Amino acid sequence: AKRQGRNHLFFYKPQIAQNQRLDVNLRNQFQQAIDQERLQLFYQPIVDLKTGKVIAAEALMRWQIHEGNYVPPAKFIPMAETTGQIIPASQWAFAQACDDLRVMLQQQSDLQVCVNLSAVQFSRANFFEQIVATIEEHQLTNQQVELELTESILMDDSEHAIALINRFREAGLSMTIDDFGTGFSSLSYLKKLPVNKLKIDRAFIQDIIKKPSDEAIVRGILAMARQLNIAVVAEGIETKEQAVRLAELGCDYGQGYYFAKPMPLAEFMEFLA
Ligand code: C2E
Ligand code: CA
Ligand code: CA
Ligand code: CA
Repeated sequence: AKRQGRNHLFFYKPQIAQNQRLDVNLRNQFQQAIDQERLQLFYQPIVDLKTGKVIAAEALMRWQIHEGNYVPPAKFIPMAETTGQIIPASQWAFAQACDDLRVMLQQQSDLQVCVNLSAVQFSRANFFEQIVATIEEHQLTNQQVELELTESILMDDSEHAIALINRFREAGLSMTIDDFGTGFSSLSYLKKLPVNKLKIDRAFIQDIIKKPSDEAIVRGILAMARQLNIAVVAEGIETKEQAVRLAELGCDYGQGYYFAKPMPLAEFMEFLA
């Protein structure tokens, strides 16, 4: 290889090494955001499709890396799961969500807060105790908190995961399977899972009006959930037509841009009012 002046290191560096450097940089910046408590939570309402009433707020993490520039969760959550940073970030988020729920309760006293969990948290010792202690510290009840998990939680050690979900349910928390329908074997294992709610993934909702096959899948999920006594949320509802159709099909709850986008607490308070 020929030298190309002062930039030769840059030119000869394999692409992989450059990507790793970017990752280290992003990881360090995320660590600073954790340490300086610069992560934020936005809230998106979940509504009863029959009455239009808001029943819960889903907490969604936001990381503003520079003024006006947000890194999408689809990028930083997987990174934080790899580095382990998801643990402190999620601990912060859960305590913050409890704080924020106390504020929301002043506006609406029967509201729940929904928090997303990572599989990494699920396999940690004392996870159950930590969650329950944080709820108690905030003078909330377990019934006011809902935990959203994806099917990936079952991949590593499903015996452990099922036992843990059972503990949470017995303690009175709501447990939801998120992104339902996108995982590996949803239908067969659902009956083994002691969850009381499932959230149909946006992929099945977005074309529900135009695609009879998507509507058929949603009908099937709803029929099965009814048999198992599991409530159903449809996510990613963007039009009135979708909301009406889902209500007609008997879907209990809905969430999506049609109702509201995720927003900071102050805006969510105005939305409730
Ligand atoms: P998710 O839990 O499935 O959250 C729903 C995502 O869909 C959110 O993206 C939300 O902003 C977006 N969304 C809501 N309604 C609509 C709609 O009508 N149309 C469309 N196109 N999108 C809609 P977001 O906030 O970017 O989060 C992406 C994912 O990152 C979440 O998916 C969740 O898996 C993860 N995540 C976010 N916050 C946390 C967190 O605090 N902890 C963990 N472990 N994961 C989180
Ligand atoms: Ca979720
Ligand atoms: Ca989801
Ligand atoms: Ca998702």
